[in-house]
Amino acid sequence: MPRPRKIREIRFKPEISGFKPEDAPYTSEKLVLTLDELEAIRLRDLEKLTQEEAAQKMNISQPTFYRLIERARQKVAEALIEGKELHFQGGDYTMAQLEMKKFTCFQCGYNWEVPYGTPRPNNCPKCGSTNIHRTPEDRGYARRGRGRGGWGRGAGSGGGRGPPQW
Ligand SMILES: [Zn+2]
Repeated sequence: MPRPRKIREIRFKPEISGFKPEDAPYTSEKLVLTLDELEAIRLRDLEKLTQEEAAQKMNISQPTFYRLIERARQKVAEALIEGKELHFQGGDYTMAQLEMKKFTCFQCGYNWEVPYGTPRPNNCPKCGSTNIHRTPEDRGYARRGRGRGGWGRGAGSGGGRGPPQW
């Protein structure tokens, strides 16, 4: 009996539907890159996570992750080398709860956050300084099982337990 395929958690949805080679003949072959395959490439090759970390992020085993990214890289290589189209669609995935990366501007002290999956900002959105860093307290914050916004709910005014200090 085949085991049911496990749903992969992803944190990125592309805003484009795929890639087309320049100067391609209109008969160029089309490859489908599923969104979980795309996420595997993003985590491993762009975010530079280890295979173990990336597998954890997607909530799948390392062997499953390995097969997933091997398939994905194969398609990307074929598209680049053989001039095929890539279409982003389908896959066994669900959107994970968005985790946020926190940044601090060392110039003006401004704090802000951006969702994982978006590029690292280059400048402070307030003063434009490039002297920006991940907020120190943020490290290790994005752990499984610690949902966003859990604290503070119902704390109300005068509640003793506010959000953590960052
Ligand atoms: Zn600033």
